[in-house]
Amino acid sequence: MTTSQAAGNVCTVSALTTRKQETANSVDSEVIYLPGTDCAIKSQASLSAFTSYRVGGAAEWYVAPRNLEALQASIKYAKEQNLVVTILGAGSNLLVSDGGLPGLVIATRHLRSKYFDPATGRLTVSAGESIPSLAWEAADLGWQGLEWAVGIPGTVGGAVVMNAGAHNSCTADMLVSAQVLLPDGTLETLTPDQLGYQYRTSLLQGGDRIITQATFQLQPGFDPAQVVATTKQHKKHRLSTQPYNFPSCGSVFRNPKPYSAGWLIEQTGLKGYQIGGAQVAQLHANFIVNRGGAKASDIFCLIRHIQHQVQEHWSIWLEPEVKMIGEFQVC
Ligand SMILES: Cc1cc2nc3c(=O)[nH]c(=O)nc-3n(C[C@H](O)[C@H](O)[C@H](O)COP(=O)(O)OP(=O)(O)OC[C@H]3O[C@@H](n4cnc5c(N)ncnc54)[C@H](O)[C@@H]3O)c2cc1C
Repeated sequence: MTTSQAAGNVCTVSALTTRKQETANSVDSEVIYLPGTDCAIKSQASLSAFTSYRVGGAAEWYVAPRNLEALQASIKYAKEQNLVVTILGAGSNLLVSDGGLPGLVIATRHLRSKYFDPATGRLTVSAGESIPSLAWEAADLGWQGLEWAVGIPGTVGGAVVMNAGAHNSCTADMLVSAQVLLPDGTLETLTPDQLGYQYRTSLLQGGDRIITQATFQLQPGFDPAQVVATTKQHKKHRLSTQPYNFPSCGSVFRNPKPYSAGWLIEQTGLKGYQIGGAQVAQLHANFIVNRGGAKASDIFCLIRHIQHQVQEHWSIWLEPEVKMIGEFQVC
């Protein structure tokens, strides 16, 4: 029904080559071309542009493969060079430290393809596809099932790993299977049962398996106008209850049942509290927003401050939902 493939360049590089290049800020950076792929691995690539907080230092090495072969070659390269690997989706649930990340950061954003199968109602998509774009596309086709996802600015891979959810639905509810790339370069297909799904977690978190593709069960055959209307309603609700006007990572903390983290933080009197450029959002206290010029360390220290204050008032230690990666100094 709808198919697309990433428009990756055909590889012309036949041997491992390196070259130095002058970047805009005049720092020497190196580019390595992997044999048999169009993959350029860059050194000292700033990550702030690739995270929704718009903060964070540079990746020691960075690559954004355009297809499975290039992804496999990247993993192989990391192994040969003894580089630790970090997977980056849309960076919408990540706080990268100001000092950046060692090793190789592999961004999935160019891993693109999607297929809506009208015979089965299944949507099969590559890891780098955008979840909100898929929600709109499904709605336009009259396929129910992804309306809840419209306000989640992540990729398919990030949603599968995080068990992203909203409006009482989550990724685990519609996932049929996920294809993962193992560290030895082979592929495996896993069912939701094998992913140990719980609230905003899966067994994939903190592991070394990379989601390459996922299949979701949707329900085709509905009036597109009706599905679009529900999708719009969800988007409107979120825009009126959450601060989408400043960079953030969405909800910072998991909800400690039976409470909501936002309510606990608000009742602790922390709405509007600010450290550097990082502020507890006025609109929703479980959001920390970058009001401009925030450093990762400002956000990190605000997270710690909230944890200590809520602990003091409620004897509850809030667990972050955001993944904090790299090195942070004690605040
Ligand atoms: C404004 C805003 C609103 C949000 N609202 C919601 C919400 O309502 N509900 C919700 O659940 N979340 C929400 N989020 C958080 C975030 O969008 C989700 O957690 C999303 O699923 C993260 O996807 P990502 O591609 O950005 O992953 P990233 O942030 O890039 O990565 C998250 C984790 O997944 C890993 N990962 C990513 N891709 C892969 C892959 N292909 N293979 C293996 N590991 C991978 C990363 O290594 C990292 O550990 C919101 C964020 C923002 C900024």
